[in-house]
Amino acid sequence: MGRLDQPIDWAQLPQAGARRVALRVTDAAETVIRQGHPWLFDGAITRASHAGQPGDLAVIFDRKGRFLAVGLYDPDSPIRVKILQANTSVTIDRDWLTGVVAAALARRLGVVSAETTGYRLINGENDGLPGVVLDRYGDTAVLKLYTAAWLPHLADLTAAVGAAQGGAHGPLARLVLRLSRRVQAATRTVSDGRLIWGDPPPPHVLFRENGLTFAADVRHGQKTGWFLDQRDNRSRVEQLSAGRSVLDVFACTGGFAVYAARGGATAVLSIDSSAPALAAARHNMALNRHLPPVAAAAYTTLTADAFTALADLASDRRQFDVVVLDPPAFAQRRHAVPQALAAYERLTTLGVRVLAPGGMLVAASCSSRVSAETFFATVQRAAAAGGRPLHAPTVTGHAADHPVTFPEGAYLKCLFGRA
Ligand code: SAH
Repeated sequence: MGRLDQPIDWAQLPQAGARRVALRVTDAAETVIRQGHPWLFDGAITRASHAGQPGDLAVIFDRKGRFLAVGLYDPDSPIRVKILQANTSVTIDRDWLTGVVAAALARRLGVVSAETTGYRLINGENDGLPGVVLDRYGDTAVLKLYTAAWLPHLADLTAAVGAAQGGAHGPLARLVLRLSRRVQAATRTVSDGRLIWGDPPPPHVLFRENGLTFAADVRHGQKTGWFLDQRDNRSRVEQLSAGRSVLDVFACTGGFAVYAARGGATAVLSIDSSAPALAAARHNMALNRHLPPVAAAAYTTLTADAFTALADLASDRRQFDVVVLDPPAFAQRRHAVPQALAAYERLTTLGVRVLAPGGMLVAASCSSRVSAETFFATVQRAAAAGGRPLHAPTVTGHAADHPVTFPEGAYLKCLFGRA
């Protein structure tokens, strides 16, 4: 039994304090919380009963001293309280969590096709559980925590997930825990990739997306092993690919490339700086070679920095009919936004240089700090400045299993434009 397969010693996890942190907030914060916004920033707190520990329950009172909201206190984050429920008072316990998880699962019924067995079951704040993601790959579920404030509640959360499985989604064979970098730094009791229950996962967990077969490395892969949010945009790329050459930049595990191949692309080139990600991309392509168009597509990968590789392709006068640019979040924090916009501008400039006349540019951004309007304006300006204005651009977002219920939740935006 590997280290990651040892049973979790629940008693070793941090405990939430018995005392709730009582908070008063600014009038502006009161208004947005009342309207359902899930975040209370540290700067909006005007009074606190005491300094709480990560995961303590925090009760926010309105200007008249009445209950406003309850959430998880997170002293290590500028988002000081992740709100669980506003306006009506509630006891946050295992039963409450079970109800929220069940509601999130119910919301997925009919959202994804029968040909899709990899999808998101809990999308953080948008499903009422800030900082929690639950993804499913076939019979494997992956629970990812983005804040240490959940650690004291992990046993309850696990029980809630266990109680809510089954039904239309079928039983689960295992639940794997993933931790964001910040949460990894905050605990030694549990580690990233730890098995919570069930059999250890195979190194490649197979699942289907719109009938294609993919493998997720649920223990070590980025996010929870796969970028589920791009499913609908990949389908759009598939529809554009018949008889075309496709450049898949920031390819990671090759989702766009495999869809393009099934769509009839003659040649697909995937570029990423991560060699293991591209090895996974080649594996994913191979998993679908039984499909004639996939077998017919010439697939190559290039491990390189995207900016350098694009500049090199441009100076070699290489051109592609479809160019997909799907970079990582350039702006994780507000102060990084100007740099991120400069990077999107540079990428677009490089992207249109390798785009064949009349070709399709597909530009995505997953920076929640960059608004859709700003991103689209930046891409359109850079394309026009490069002498390739985008005609009739279409804009899209996440797949439907990633519901959005607050402005910052709409992190993924994607523009399809011909130039
Ligand atoms: N298109 C992918 C998701 C991309 S995630 C999909 O559909 O699944 C972003 C990817 O960018 C990661 O795989 C990361 O390894 C890669 N990356 C980050 N910085 C890079 C750079 N400077 N050059 C090339 N790849 C980079």
